[in-house]
Amino acid sequence: MAGLKGGGCTPAQQELWLTMSAERSTIHSACECQAILYASLDDKNLVVGAWAVQGIREKASAQSIGTERARFDVSWLCPFCGRHALRRFDAAALRPAAGSGVAAP
Ligand SMILES: [Zn+2]
Repeated sequence: MAGLKGGGCTPAQQELWLTMSAERSTIHSACECQAILYASLDDKNLVVGAWAVQGIREKASAQSIGTERARFDVSWLCPFCGRHALRRFDAAALRPAAGSGVAAP
């Protein structure tokens, strides 16, 4: 670890940047209890919000692991069954290609 160059931003500046950044992705995965786990990611693939849906929507806790790698893990704590769900995501696949309309009108 360590050895990363740069890092000129103070934590406050980074927080401001994250707040201002519009480049976010939402990922989801099914829990073993059939709830759907969601997480909202910032442009560094850090979890900024998580929730789960199983008929109703509940706030969940989740965290990203190893976001410096091309493939990183997201760990959820399911609010419905209490299981930890660990899922692997490909960082490159989360980037919406410019001009490829993702959302339906
Ligand atoms: Zn569950």
